[in-house]
Amino acid sequence: MADLQTDVRYIKGIGEKKAQALNKLGIYTLYDLVSYFPRRYEDRSQYKPIALTQDGESVCICALIANTPQLSRVRRGLDLVRFKAVDESGEVNITFFNQSYVKDNLQKGESYVFYGKIEVNGTRRSMTNPVYEREGMENRVTGRIVPIYRLSAGLNQRLLMQSIRQGLDSCGGLLPEVLPETVRERNQLVQARYAYENIHFPADFGTLELARRRLVFEELFVLACALGRIRGERVRDGGIPVRDADLEEFWMTLPFSPTGAQRRAVEQAVAEMRSGAVMNRLVQGDVGSGKTLVAAALIWYVWKSGLGSAFMAPTEILAEQHYETLSRMLSPFGLHVGKLTGAMSAKEKRAVKAALEQGELDLIIGTHALFSADVAYQNLGLVVTDEQHRFGVEQRAALIGKAGRPHVLVMSATPIPRTLALIIYGDLDVSVIDELPPGRKKVDTFTVDESYRARLNAFIRKLIGEGRQVFVVCPMVEENVELPENLKSAEEHAKELQRSFPDLHVACVHGRMKPKEKDAVMAAFLSGEAQILVATTVIEVGVDVPNAALMIIENAERFGLSQLHQLRGRVGRGQHKSYCVLVSDATGEDVKARLSILCKTNDGFRIAEEDLRLRGPGDFFGSRQHGLPATHIADLGGDVEVLQRAQGEANRLLESDPQMLAPENAALRESVERIFHQSSDSFN
Ligand code: ADP
Ligand code: MG
Repeated sequence: MADLQTDVRYIKGIGEKKAQALNKLGIYTLYDLVSYFPRRYEDRSQYKPIALTQDGESVCICALIANTPQLSRVRRGLDLVRFKAVDESGEVNITFFNQSYVKDNLQKGESYVFYGKIEVNGTRRSMTNPVYEREGMENRVTGRIVPIYRLSAGLNQRLLMQSIRQGLDSCGGLLPEVLPETVRERNQLVQARYAYENIHFPADFGTLELARRRLVFEELFVLACALGRIRGERVRDGGIPVRDADLEEFWMTLPFSPTGAQRRAVEQAVAEMRSGAVMNRLVQGDVGSGKTLVAAALIWYVWKSGLGSAFMAPTEILAEQHYETLSRMLSPFGLHVGKLTGAMSAKEKRAVKAALEQGELDLIIGTHALFSADVAYQNLGLVVTDEQHRFGVEQRAALIGKAGRPHVLVMSATPIPRTLALIIYGDLDVSVIDELPPGRKKVDTFTVDESYRARLNAFIRKLIGEGRQVFVVCPMVEENVELPENLKSAEEHAKELQRSFPDLHVACVHGRMKPKEKDAVMAAFLSGEAQILVATTVIEVGVDVPNAALMIIENAERFGLSQLHQLRGRVGRGQHKSYCVLVSDATGEDVKARLSILCKTNDGFRIAEEDLRLRGPGDFFGSRQHGLPATHIADLGGDVEVLQRAQGEANRLLESDPQMLAPENAALRESVERIFHQSSDSFN
C-alpha cells in the first residue's frame, strides 16, 4: 500500500525513466506529484461544427477521417502526415509535422475529437498538430478543461498528466485533511481530496475556483502556523545584557537630526535589549528612509557595553558602501571597524579573521562570508542584516546560532502590507520607519510609450550634459527563452543605447554575470566613469549612486508595483531633481491603472497595499524575495481575503494548541514540519 512519501518510481504506471524526468521537476514522492499544480489551463470544452470555426480560434471539432492518412517526407528531418476530416457542416485539412506515428494511430472512417488552432484561408480550413482522442473516448486531452504543467526534458504534457492521474488514483483516501473540520466549515472550503482532483482535472471553472481557493487557503494557513510556531518557540529571555547609554551623545555627532521615526525605531530596540530579552526585530522602511542610521545607533549603543557587532550585506558592493558609511560615522568614537568580503585577498581575510578572534574589532561588515565556519567571534552582541529579503528564514537562524544568542536587527527595504508582513515576518517584532528625512524631493514619475523614444533620448542627453547619470532597467530574461517581440533584453538595449550615444560610456550589468564582473561594472558607474547603466533588476538592492537622476524602466508592465517603487528608489538620493520614466506599450486598462498609482504616490507602503490588492498574494510569495520556502501559491494566485482569513485561523489555532499536539491537528503538524524540512534542504 502506497503512502504519500512513496517514491514516484514505484507508482503504478511510472517507471524508472519517467521518475527521473519527474525528479528534474522536484517531484520525488507521491505527495510531490499530486501537489505539482498546473501552471495554467486550456479550455478545450467547447465543440464547434467545422463550418462555424473561425480563423485563429482554438477549438474542439468532432470529425471523421475521410481519406487514408498519408505520410510524406519533405526532406531529411521533416515528415508530414496529412489527411482530410469531415463533419456534417464541412471539412478541414489536418497536418502533423514530424509525428509519423500518428499515421498508424488514426484510421480512415473513424471519428475523433481534434483540438487545435483553426486556420481559414478563403474557404479552406486547416489545423496543424492537433491533439486528438477517439470519439467517445475523449475526456483526457480534449472535450474538457485541460491542465497545462511546467515541463522538464523527457516529459510532455500528456505523460505528465498521465502520471498525475496515476498519482491521484494511487492516493485513494490518503490525502490528509490538513485543515481542521471547524476551519474548513467556517471558511466554506472544499475537502482535500476534492480540491486535489479538481485543481488538476476540473469539471468546470466553478469547480476549479473552489479547488484553488481551498489550496491557497491551506498553503497560507500552514505557512502561518509554521511561522507562528517559530515565534512561539522563540526564547525571549536571556538576552546578552546591555547597559544604559545616552543616545544623545551619538545623535549629536550627526550632520542632521534623526527623524522621529528613526528615533522611535532605535528606542524600541534599545528598550528590548535593556529588558533582558533577546531582540529579534525587523526594521521596515521605505527606500531612503535612513535605516542605516538606525543600525549605526544600535551598533554604537551595544559598543558602549563592550559588545561587538556584525553587519551583513547581500552583495559585495553594498558591503563596501556600508563599510564606508559606518566607518565615517563610528570611527570618531574609537570603534574599530573591519570588513570581510569575497573580493579581499586570502591574506587580508586571514588578518581580519585573526583580529575578530582576538576581539580586536568592534564592528565587522561583510557578505555571507561573515558566517562561514572559520570565522569566530568574541563578544558578539548584535547582528544586523541589511535588505533582509535576500536572506532566508533559515539563514537568519544559522547566523544567530553562530555566536551565542546575539540581538538581531534585520532591515528590509521592501515595504510589505501589514497582512503579509504578519506571515512573512511572523517570527519577528517589527518597527516601521514611516517618515522620510526632511527635504527629500519627490521623484517625478511618468508613463510613456515607444512613440516618446526620441524625446526620451533627448532627455537623457540633457541630464548627462548637466553632469548626471542614468539608470535603465530591463526585465529579467530567463535563459533560453525566446524574446517575445518588443521585450528588451538588457544586453541588446545597451547596444542600442551605445549606438544612440556613441560618445558616452554605456555599461551593462545582468544576472548572468559573475559577482566579480557585476561589482566591477557597478564600480565603474559609481565612479562616474560610465554615464548610463543598463541593468536587469540586480540593481534593485540599495546601491547608492547620488549622482543618478534618471531611472528609465523598459517594459514597465512586466514588473510588480513594489518592485518598480524599489527601482525608482535608486534615484533621488542626492541633491539633484530626479525623474523616473516608465516605458510601456501595454494598452490594457489594468496595466495603466497599476502604473498610474506609481505616478501618483511615492509612499512605498501605499504602493505595496495597492499591489497586493490588484495582484493578490501569489506574486509576493512567488517573487522569492522574502526567503520563505517555495510555495505553490504563486501558481495558484489567491486573494487578500483568503490571506487574511488563513492568518486569522492560524492565530486562533495556535492560541489553543501552540505545538499542534492535539490529535485532530496531527496532519497539520506534519505539513508544518514538512515546510521546515524543505526549507532546510534548500538552504544546504
Ligand atoms: P535606506 O533606508 O534606503 O537604507 P539610507 O540609510 O541609505 O536609506 O539613507 C538614505 C540617505 O538619507 C543617506 O544618504 C543618509 O545619510 C540620509 N539620511 C538618513 N537619515 C537622515 C536624517 N535624519 N536626515 C537627513 N538625512 C538622512
Ligand atoms: Mg539601505
